[in-house]
Amino acid sequence: MSVESSSEKKPALRPLPSVEMALLPNELRARRTKRLVVSGVVGAVVLGFAFVWLIRSVLPETWAWVEATFDPNDKAAALAMAPTDGTVTATADGGVEKEPSPEERLALERSRPNARYETLFGGVPSFRGALLNAGLEAEECNQIEQALQHIVDFRRCRPEHRLVVERDENGALKHFEYHPSATEFVEVSRGEDGLFRAEQIRIKVERDAVARAASVQTSIGDGLMEIGLPAGLAAFFTEAFEGRINFPIQARKGDVFRVIVDEERVDGEFLRYGRLHALEYDGQRTGNAQAFYYEAPNVPGQFYDDTGRAMQGGWLRTPLRYDRLSSRFNPRRFHPILKRMMPHLGIDYAASTGTPVWAAADGRVKFAGRKGPSGNLVTIRHTGGFESHYAHLHRIKGGIRPGTFVKQRELIGFVGSTGRSTGPHLHFGLKKYSRYIDPNTELNGPGIRMAARDLPAFKEVVAQRKTQLSSIADAPELIAGVDEPLVEQVDEIMD
Ligand SMILES: [Zn+2]
Repeated sequence: MSVESSSEKKPALRPLPSVEMALLPNELRARRTKRLVVSGVVGAVVLGFAFVWLIRSVLPETWAWVEATFDPNDKAAALAMAPTDGTVTATADGGVEKEPSPEERLALERSRPNARYETLFGGVPSFRGALLNAGLEAEECNQIEQALQHIVDFRRCRPEHRLVVERDENGALKHFEYHPSATEFVEVSRGEDGLFRAEQIRIKVERDAVARAASVQTSIGDGLMEIGLPAGLAAFFTEAFEGRINFPIQARKGDVFRVIVDEERVDGEFLRYGRLHALEYDGQRTGNAQAFYYEAPNVPGQFYDDTGRAMQGGWLRTPLRYDRLSSRFNPRRFHPILKRMMPHLGIDYAASTGTPVWAAADGRVKFAGRKGPSGNLVTIRHTGGFESHYAHLHRIKGGIRPGTFVKQRELIGFVGSTGRSTGPHLHFGLKKYSRYIDPNTELNGPGIRMAARDLPAFKEVVAQRKTQLSSIADAPELIAGVDEPLVEQVDEIMD
């Protein structure tokens, strides 16, 4: 924690109350009692669930009996305890009671001949529960469950999933559908031999690449939302332009962006936004940058510039999701606490304690442990004479030790404030042939060029996308000369 290092320099202050402060005896007692009660309740609940699960999996018949006995409304299940084939008609004819409850009326309705209806999975704990709610008899439930057991993962059922039931002219179950999403469903039908068989059906999704534009006022995410797109697409801007644009520093109010994104529809109805095909950012400080998504044969899809060079190089420029940049590489920095010139040989990324830190590239761990002012430090050796440093970590991930091979974007530790640091941040340093260099200028090397044989097809796509980007109706114009950064500059964190 940050207190230990800074307290040496500052006069002794009364500590602020924190989670680590000693508790009074009565507080201790109260806390112990609370813990005892909570663990008791949790234990009882867990035991209860375990018991129910045991009965259901080991003795399914007993469970069916329990359900039938303890749910007086569920006439269908109770009736089905007599395993005859005539149960369906028996229920259909069973409407002799004077005043059926709404549930009974519904069950009756659902067992009528030629009925076709739809129900939601709902808040039931099991697939069987949803089937019973949909008005199926216990025997029908067994058949459906059996037909689906290797196709549907019952643990993934959600309350909003839909069930469709269809009966024949005798009221017998003929057809059943389970719809876990808008794009696929499972169909169960009774065959000639009377057995139910399941088949997975994929629904055709229509895709239309639409082009949209917006002006940036507070953030790209807000700009996206303003034109009805999900704010999450902003991550594609940071990732696609990682080597060209440093958004937290270079973005300005009045910048403009354009996107081409797939609008997905099922039966003409809007479903969601899918793949991004093109991105364009036009800013005062950034200039104009474009990126085009392309899947060349046998190459994973990625963003390229218009000449066919991959947007991303071999390095992660930012080895974490950070809140803001708090200190840049500066070989001539004056340190306000140490009161002397102290070069800052890395980049500081402010982020909350516990934020995951990733390896910036493939490599072998050279050092992992505590090291003076660096606090918890991980050093990774890469090819090409590079070495990356990750300092002040709250915790190093288990298994990360000298000699371990790590892949790019593999989790190596968590942001903290260990060592000489005044707040949680990651100090990211880079060495080339044992000399510290500025990661920002070094890591943005150009990506790999697309194979020449793929270029003609790619260029055709790019020309088409460019036309689409430049012909967006009522696209906002870039407002130049405002030069107002999007985010306020905050106090520097020192290390
Ligand atoms: Zn630093």
